[in-house]
Amino acid sequence: MEPLTREKFNQNLEKRVERVIMEYKLLENGDKVAVALSGGKDSVLTLHLLHRFQEDFNLQLVAISIDEGISGYRDRGLKIARENASKLKIELVEKSFSDELDIKLDQISSLYKSTCIPCGVFRRYLLNKSAYEWGADKLATGHNLDDEIQSFLMSFARADFRRFSKFGPKLQKIHPKLVPRIKPLWKIPEKNVGIWAVLNGVEVHFAECPYSHQSLRAKLKSYLNNLEEKSPGTKMMLLESFRKTFKQQESLLELVECESCGEPSSLNICKACEMREYIDSFEF
Ligand code: SF4
Ligand SMILES: [Zn+2]
Repeated sequence: MEPLTREKFNQNLEKRVERVIMEYKLLENGDKVAVALSGGKDSVLTLHLLHRFQEDFNLQLVAISIDEGISGYRDRGLKIARENASKLKIELVEKSFSDELDIKLDQISSLYKSTCIPCGVFRRYLLNKSAYEWGADKLATGHNLDDEIQSFLMSFARADFRRFSKFGPKLQKIHPKLVPRIKPLWKIPEKNVGIWAVLNGVEVHFAECPYSHQSLRAKLKSYLNNLEEKSPGTKMMLLESFRKTFKQQESLLELVECESCGEPSSLNICKACEMREYIDSFEF
């Protein structure tokens, strides 16, 4: 068998991403695309790939980094995000929980069973708000094949059927202020993202978040990795079964503007405002 060279690996990876972009029409000519950039391998690869396709699709790109306030962890990721954005000459917008919401994740972690719950809500909130303010047509995230299966199984386990509408590589524009998400790495296994970074000598943030072990996602991740090791191809089969079984149910999601902050929300008060009120009821 021919040894796998860096060039072959990169070509293969780009081809697989390009197939998803074309099949699901993730990009259109002249799109303004904001890329969520944490400095982790998935977001860094997403930024590099979109930069690679920038000319073909005549894209305008910006990267957005969010500092949640996780001491001893986020600083390193932000440094790597800055380095990658500057290397590719892409503008980086930096936002923080602290400046925008007057919250530091470390300070509120004890209020929740899993710190990932407020983290996810506030990060999605700020990413959408920042992308919208910049005028983005799309918000690209680094969700890979593993993330997608984990998210789907988590929704399944919680009978959270509304979330099934977030499955898939491209979400539709269901509210004027909600920037549609695209996931170029939708069919790329997490392992390959790591191999890409190592083979190409790209600096990425490999460290685990100190709160990650609290989440259901971490348990599912380890279960799915064991399964994949015993029966290679299981993850891809799962993705395919979900894709064939569940159609997007966008009609389930009718959004309004939050009465408090004006951001798109499925309820009169958005999740971020509801959480802030809860957090404000404690003294720090
Ligand atoms: S692992 Fe959880 S707490 Fe850490 S950055 Fe991710 S969502 Fe936030
Ligand atoms: Zn709100």
